[in-house]
Amino acid sequence: MACVSFPYDAPVSQTLFDRASLVTPGGVNSPVRAFRAVGGTPRFMVSGSGPYLTDADGREYVDLVCSWGPMILGHSHPDVIAAVQEAVSRGTSFGTPGEGEVALAEEIVARVAPVEQVRLVSSGTEATMSAIRLARGFTGRAKVVKFAGCYHGHVDALLAAAGSGLATFALPDTPGVTGAQAGDTIVLPYNDLDAVRAAFAAHPGEIACVITEASPGNMGVVPPVEGFNAGLKALCRADGALYISDEVMTGFRTSKAGWYGVDGVAPDLMTFGKVMGGGFPAAAFGGRQDVMAHLAPAGPVYQAGTLSGNPIATAAGLAQLRLLDDAAYAMVDAVSREIQELVSAALTKEGVAHRVQTASNMFSVFFTADEVRDYDDARKQEAFRFNAFFHSMLADGVYLPPSAFESWFVSTAHDARAVERVAAALPAAARAAAEATA
Ligand SMILES: *Cc1c(COP(=O)(O)O)cnc(C)c1O
Repeated sequence: MACVSFPYDAPVSQTLFDRASLVTPGGVNSPVRAFRAVGGTPRFMVSGSGPYLTDADGREYVDLVCSWGPMILGHSHPDVIAAVQEAVSRGTSFGTPGEGEVALAEEIVARVAPVEQVRLVSSGTEATMSAIRLARGFTGRAKVVKFAGCYHGHVDALLAAAGSGLATFALPDTPGVTGAQAGDTIVLPYNDLDAVRAAFAAHPGEIACVITEASPGNMGVVPPVEGFNAGLKALCRADGALYISDEVMTGFRTSKAGWYGVDGVAPDLMTFGKVMGGGFPAAAFGGRQDVMAHLAPAGPVYQAGTLSGNPIATAAGLAQLRLLDDAAYAMVDAVSREIQELVSAALTKEGVAHRVQTASNMFSVFFTADEVRDYDDARKQEAFRFNAFFHSMLADGVYLPPSAFESWFVSTAHDARAVERVAAALPAAARAAAEATA
């Protein structure tokens, strides 16, 4: 970290961060926002418009985080804002059913064929937690298989990525998760079907579900190798376990039907969040009707939420999804490719070993020459080069995810001007990456 310089200070952000640190642990409400991985002062944003964010010091950035995915139409899209204003004028929460949540559920069911029924919740974490409870309730089994480097929100049983090699029983990743909570979680290396086969062989009839990111984006972008998701589904089917595809990040981003729209492997249950909320707290889980029928009040597996299906959140999400047609995805894919090529060219010019990995319009830049197929591969990259690259881009007005292990996100609003500003910032950042030392 010592080698990274912070060329511009951000005095107003720093003052806010100091205030925040007194009243909030670490000064933030979600850890990655604190810039711990890259160092420096987290930027406090005050507004967003199209592809741009403006911070409290009045500096404008091209935003390549897009709120970690949700803002696929850019910030403050007029149709989404109008839908929110219309909804808010009728009241903000009723604690009763409403038409907005029916319309959003219909839109999801219409887009994603394996989803016959869906339950709305308020965060991706709630979605995966509830899907796992449902899988356990449906199968009457306890064990859950997850993959190292896959993030499914901060669900106790899933905050376990420790362990390498075959069928390692998970040790909790964090104090506060007990051995009992993580003890039924089996953590396997990603993209390794043999490891999954071995886990089923070791625990026949005991595994309730395999949960995987449809195409992982939380260790950087590490797409499934050909046949991996189909293989997971087949192994689950053979043993009577459920195959849960976590599409909180990929859902309605990587295509109209998310990653399912790319690989066509139908899961038993799926989880959604991010894009479907249009920048509001809306998320969902859904899938096979016979499985969803086990959920209260139709069935015995309890699940509930005071703000589930909130009218503002569902109005925003529905307005956003209705704008996401084939043309919109083509735009996002094209601008993503353009930025990938610019980044790669700039790094190549400076002789920086790197790999750009993609999952349709999601991408990340690994500072290594080798293919990244799992979490161990990802951790071999020279993250110190990313940190230097990040701060140079930030100084030149481009806001990247503040960690080498995150996907970058673009939107339909990233136009030629925004791309030019990214291009202008790249040569210095590539030089900083080349010159960085561990
Ligand atoms: C973001 C994310 C989650 C958690 O969603 P929250 O809304 O932050 O709780 C779960 N799974 C995946 C794949 C995610 O990317």
